[in-house]
This record gives sequence, structure tokens and C-alpha cells, in this order.
Amino acid sequence: MNTPTRLELLGHWIAGAAVADTDRLAPVTNPATGEITRQVAMASKATVEAAIGAAQAAFPAWRATAPQRRARVLFAFKALLEKNADRIVEAITGEHGKVLDDALGELQRGIEVVEYACGAPQLLKGEHSRNVGPEIDSWSEMRPLGVVAGITPFNFPAMVPMWMFPIAIAAGNTFVLKPSEKDPSCALILAELLKEAGLPDGVFNVVNGDKEAVDTLLTDARVQAVSFVGSTPIAEYVYRTATAHGKRVQALGGAKNHAVVMPDADLDSAVNAIMGAAYGSCGERCMAISVVVAVGGDVADALIGKLAAKVRALKIGSGFDRSSEMGPLVTRAHRDAVKAHIDSAEKEGAKLVVDGRGLKVEGHADGFFLGGTLLDQVRPDMAAYKAEIFGPVLQVVRATTLEEAVALIEANEYGNGVCIFTRDGGTARAFSDAISIGMVGINVPLPVPAAYHSFGGWKRSLFGDLSIYGADGFRFYTRRKTLTQRWPEQPLANAEFSFPSH
Ligand code: NAD
Repeated sequence: MNTPTRLELLGHWIAGAAVADTDRLAPVTNPATGEITRQVAMASKATVEAAIGAAQAAFPAWRATAPQRRARVLFAFKALLEKNADRIVEAITGEHGKVLDDALGELQRGIEVVEYACGAPQLLKGEHSRNVGPEIDSWSEMRPLGVVAGITPFNFPAMVPMWMFPIAIAAGNTFVLKPSEKDPSCALILAELLKEAGLPDGVFNVVNGDKEAVDTLLTDARVQAVSFVGSTPIAEYVYRTATAHGKRVQALGGAKNHAVVMPDADLDSAVNAIMGAAYGSCGERCMAISVVVAVGGDVADALIGKLAAKVRALKIGSGFDRSSEMGPLVTRAHRDAVKAHIDSAEKEGAKLVVDGRGLKVEGHADGFFLGGTLLDQVRPDMAAYKAEIFGPVLQVVRATTLEEAVALIEANEYGNGVCIFTRDGGTARAFSDAISIGMVGINVPLPVPAAYHSFGGWKRSLFGDLSIYGADGFRFYTRRKTLTQRWPEQPLANAEFSFPSH
């Protein structure tokens, strides 16, 4: 491995300035080359407490700022995101490994949440009722919570933080973000651009780090709410710990997303849709399709034939190479873990239709590459079926009826996304009614809700009551205050001892 001697040090962003504690450092790698390109500071408890303190200090003035003025900062931020798109996208590809166009797509989905958050003056209006009693009017207001925290995964270093903080700050909260230590550059760029957009210091802070930083955010009494996105075991830990410390929590976890292909489906369309959804971003998406449930033996054989040809033809290389369709996995450890799942599926009797384990990418011997892999004859009792995997591995399970496909999906612990390919409206409707999954696609492989809807799975894919962004986002980052007032023409003549009713 070629390690440069002087590495850039990525620190934190607290009260509008870059700071770093250097006691503990972690390497940041370029997944396409395996090179260590930077080091990132792992925040101590004291550093995280300083970030929370900065957010707490900025809260009174930010809460008192008119929603329209807060929205104006976000309008300017959106323009800066667009102006700096190349820089952001290169930071994502350089640390995550995904291809440039995919990185641009994630940035765009993040920008869409910023656009939605610009509607804060309208979205925070509350409700008013005149004459709820004699000369009595009543209204509800959506008040910000205070300091809120976001903890995010490696796989969308721009989009997932932007599922959270634009809405949180538009609603008048102040924010501490703990991004993934695997690709920390993007969050620091976002912080700089927010400052350039006119955001007051302390409203948005970034702490890089690991469990020590996360645990401080989960237990500090000044943090009012925590949004988490990551794997299910950590989501559950975050939910239990932060709720035990009195915080509001939404913790989004992992997934195992199935695509059901019915005998009447347009197979060529389904295959193209499934290819992008299974192998795009090297399968490192929480909405990636990782299982195809082929209903009927003929469908399975035809589908596998078409898929196999396309998987073998995948163009795999550096994310910076414009001809690449798929880049490397994020780290060597993750690449090896995904490989181990393929070994285990093979041992348990799955049929390896396409085996990506031997892939060599010319000029990138130390990159974390793995070829697209297609497994047939997968059964639900296999360890590789039960695991999320999070790599370029598509598993085919064969079912004889739609009911069998539904029962298989219902038995799975995850409930993030699912899709069905069919030409029959009745089948699609019955399927979407029967299934306990938060986001359902009908001939749409990645049914990620638009910014003005909300994103969230069911079962062990989400701990908490509210989904992320959209209307649920404003609900999550505000608490309701209801005021009831009377300005009587006449003084009250008597005391009333019965409970007031109208
Ligand atoms: P992860 O759970 O390992 O890490 C997520 C965050 O938690 C990171 O910031 C990390 O530093 C922190 N963390 C890790 N271990 C911790 C611990 N023991 N204690 C406290 N904090 C800890 O997830 P990841 O590997 O970065 O991301 C991939 C996972 O995220 C996949 O499971 C994927 O499905 C999931 N994901 C889910 C969604 C969704 O919307 N449901 C979206 C994107 C990713």
C-alpha cells in the first residue's frame, strides 16, 4: 500500500470554525486504489460537549429568527450546493467509491430536501380555531426542540445528512452532525457552504468520530432529539440508549429488499430495472434490491438468463472513470465480508450463476473491488439470505405463487423497501395491501419517496414513530404548543366548577 507521508487531517466544525483534536486519528482511504489519503480526528467526549455547547448557545437567537429569514439561508445554501457540485461529488467518489454520476444523483436528492425545507414559513404555520368557547380562540404552534443530533452512515455522505439538518434548522433547531468516519470530507464541505450561505455560527456543527462521539450525543441532557441512519443493530442501540435518556429518536436501520417478478411482467424492463437497483452503488444502498423472488419456474429461468448476461457485462472500475457503471466497495474489510457471504451461500447449496470473486481491475490491484455476483436456488434458511450483505450480490429465490412470495417477505426481519413487476393492476394492489413494508414500488425498483413525502421502513428497519424528511421531518423536529385565549367583554361573574365543555 502506498501511503503518502504528509496526510491532510480532517477535524470537526464547531461554532463556525474548523477544529481538530489529534489524540485519536483514523485513516480515510480511496477505495479504488486502497491508498490512505487523509486522516480523520476521532472526537473525544469533551470535543462533542463543546459542539453541543456551541449549538446550545446559538439556539435562542436562531429560534427567534423569522422562518422566512431562516429559509433565505437555505435558498443561498441550495445555490452554493449547485455551484460546488463538482467538489462535493469528487469528495464522495474519492472516499466512498461510487461512480461520479451516482454521487451527483445523491447530491441532487439532498438538494431536493433543502428545497422542501425552504417552505418552512408555510410548513410551520400551525392551526387556528376561532370561538372554541365563548369569546375564546385557540391555536397550535410548532416550536423547535433545541439542540438536535444526526448520526449518519457511510453510504450516502451528502444525501442522508441532508435528510436531516435542512429541516431541523429551518424549523429553528441547532444541529450537531456525526457523519461516518469512512467518508468524512463531505460533511465538512457542507458546513463551510452553510457558513458561506449566511448561517450563524453554532447553528450547524460537525463532529467526526466513533462510538465515543455517538455515546456522548445519546446521553448529554442538552440534546433534545436524535436522528440516526445506519445498520439495524446500531439503530436499535441508539434508539434504546437515547430514549432511555429522555430524547425523541428516529433510528433508521438496515434492509433486505425483495423484487417480486410475476409471470406477466415485461421481463426486459424488469431486468434493466433490477440491474440498476441491485448493482448501482455496488449494492451499498439501503433501498438496493438484493433478492429477486421469481414467481413461476419459467419466469425464473428466463430472468436468470437475461440477468446473467448483463451481470457479466457490468463495467467495473474506478468511480472517477466515466465509463464505469460500478465502483469498488467502501473498505477492504467490507469487501472481504461480502466475499465471505458468497462463500457461505455456495457452501449452503446456492448455485453461483455469476461469481464476482475473481475480478481483477487493471491498474487497481489494491482497490476494494468485487465483481457482480448472481446466486440462484437461494433458500430462506441460508445465512446469506438472512444477512443484509450490502454488496453487489443478487440472490434469486423461486416461488410458485404470489402468496408464497408474500409469506417469504413477511417472514423477513426487515421492512424497508419492496417492489413488484407485473402488468396486472389487481395483483399490484393486492400485493401492496398484503405486505408489511414501508416503501412499495410497482414496476419501480427503488421507491425512494420524494422530498415532500417521507422516508421510512417498517419492522426492524425503523425504530421510532416518525419517518425521516417530508412532513414527518417537520413533525419530528418540532413540538406542539397549543394556546387558548379569551379577551372577555364582561368580567367573569361566577366561578365555574364543572369541567369546561362546549
Ligand atoms: P453503521 O451502523 O456501521 O454506522 C452508522 C453510524 O453509526 C456511523 O456514523 C458510525 O460511526 C456509527 N456507529 C457504528 N458503530 C457504532 C457503535 N458501536 N456505537 C455507536 N455508534 C456506532 O452503518 P454503515 O455501515 O455506516 O452504513 C450501512 C448501513 O446503513 C446499512 O445497514 C444500510 O442499510 C443502512 N442504511 C439505512 C438507511 C435507511 O434509510 N434505512 C439509509 C442508508 C443506510
